[in-house]
Amino acid sequence: MAYKERIESEELKLFRFLNNRMVLPSKEQKIYLYLEKGFKGEVMFDQLTEELDPKKFLVLNDLRLETSSTNFQIDSFIIGQGTHFPCEVKNYEGDYYYKSNQFYVMNDTVIQNPLDQIKRSETLLLQTFQKVNYSIPIKSNVFFVNPAFTLYQAPLDKPIIYPTQLSKYLEEFNRKPSVLTDDHYKIADYLVKEHKPASPYTRVPPYTYELLIKGLTCFSCHSFLVLAGETKIVCNVCGLVEKVENGILRSVEELQLLFPAIKITTNLVFQWCKVIESKKQIRRILQKHYKTVGTRHTTYYI
Ligand SMILES: [Zn+2]
Repeated sequence: MAYKERIESEELKLFRFLNNRMVLPSKEQKIYLYLEKGFKGEVMFDQLTEELDPKKFLVLNDLRLETSSTNFQIDSFIIGQGTHFPCEVKNYEGDYYYKSNQFYVMNDTVIQNPLDQIKRSETLLLQTFQKVNYSIPIKSNVFFVNPAFTLYQAPLDKPIIYPTQLSKYLEEFNRKPSVLTDDHYKIADYLVKEHKPASPYTRVPPYTYELLIKGLTCFSCHSFLVLAGETKIVCNVCGLVEKVENGILRSVEELQLLFPAIKITTNLVFQWCKVIESKKQIRRILQKHYKTVGTRHTTYYI
């Protein structure tokens, strides 16, 4: 198990909710797909690092750090005895080529060079370590995880791990001797403490409550075609069955992420879910899981 687990970012969740409830403009649609794909790639990578011996290596997933007012992010950070390994994970798919220190898609569009990205993170990470008088060699790599990725004119001397090399590269880790000490755990705890999730609201398009499609959605396939019974909701598309209570709580969390300033009331949740027939049931669940503020007509839940 990773020392710091990866969780879906609030930004990805927010984009997913919005994508389900409105038509995203094309720019935001691209960001959303990029986020989904990126997350999938990271999860693929995590499956491989899960195999690392936890007595020898600490794996910290998704670190967002700041040093000298500059933010940087590391997809996975592997702490070993003598060297630490920042990993940049890319889920690029299709054909790319490399020319004069640049990455291109086959249609000649230049894309951000992931090698520049890891160099930047490496410098900022070293600065972070310096602040706490921690000194250790670090070795960054870019990991391309998608089996359908090809890089033409691939440079031989760059820190890139290709899909075909991935498993072997990580298997080698467990063969290395590595003894973790208190210092390793201390730096791991320090990085976890310094981790600050990014605001999810900077890249989303404008939206309003009125504009969004209402309805409780399926936990698994996000379809609106769910039927609510007394205790369970059933998805007509994928067949998933979920407790009504969970469905309502998910919907409240969705509302809170979409509209951080909104007051959660029984009527609002009733209107938002659409398929729950009993306001009483909604009220009971809200009372059970949230704190009640105000009385009678002005009651809301926090
Ligand atoms: Zn479903």
